[in-house]
Amino acid sequence: MILGGTEEAKALAARLVAAGHPVIVSLAGRAAADYPGTVRIGGFGGADGLAAVLRAERITHLLDATHPFAAAISPGAVRAAAMAGIPYLRLERPPWGAEPGDDFVMVKDAEAASAAVPEGARVFLTLGLRGLSPFLARRDLELVVRAIAAPDLEGRADVTVLRARGPFALADERALWAEHGFDALVTKNSGGSDAKLVAARENGALVVMIERPAGQPPADATTVDEMLARLGKG
Ligand code: NAP
Repeated sequence: MILGGTEEAKALAARLVAAGHPVIVSLAGRAAADYPGTVRIGGFGGADGLAAVLRAERITHLLDATHPFAAAISPGAVRAAAMAGIPYLRLERPPWGAEPGDDFVMVKDAEAASAAVPEGARVFLTLGLRGLSPFLARRDLELVVRAIAAPDLEGRADVTVLRARGPFALADERALWAEHGFDALVTKNSGGSDAKLVAARENGALVVMIERPAGQPPADATTVDEMLARLGKG
């Protein structure tokens, strides 16, 4: 079973299905369900529920390829795999780091991220739907929000919303930055394609980066190839 919700989960499922393995992909519900293998959707009701499913489906390996900011599912998945007596392996993309010349501020959460943005800035918010409130409360900021679904703007009519799903090409990011002239980018440290960071660097913009949640299981692999190698399928 693959715990999904990321591009890596989809790619891992495709490779395992192509190699002839029966794969169940588990999604929380919000992500698109066009995955290879058998897809199941919805929470398990905690670690006990997941352990029961692992036993009932006679799962031999629990592969956790959830997003680095999905903080609740992974610790429970470790416990569930132990209860079911099967291996748990986590695929987690490496975090982004500042390069020479970058103007990075690392913060713990959205509140701290908002506090790190200077007065009157034009801000590109790529936090998804959560964590917008501290920014929406600041009337001095010009905000552009990029998210897959429509966010709750808490009554702010002056906020620009860009509905889009990544990954984003560098040429498109450059065009967006040329259009909006952002002073600051606010992002979670998701890792993966770094086109928006390149655009921020080229524009000399401040990058406010929300650090990954603490208490997550360590990564066993950082790429699909590494995970397949760990499974002996590389
Ligand atoms: P979360 O806080 O870790 O999970 C909340 C609850 O949703 C979990 O306790 C679990 O319910 C259920 N759940 C989460 N992932 C699941 C999965 N793959 N299969 C079945 N149930 C799952 O996660 P989240 O931040 O809400 O994210 C939900 C999903 O979206 C994740 O699978 C993640 O990979 C994907 N995603 C998240 C982000 C992000 O920034 N958070 C970004 C991109 C994609 P029970 O306790 O009832 O089992």
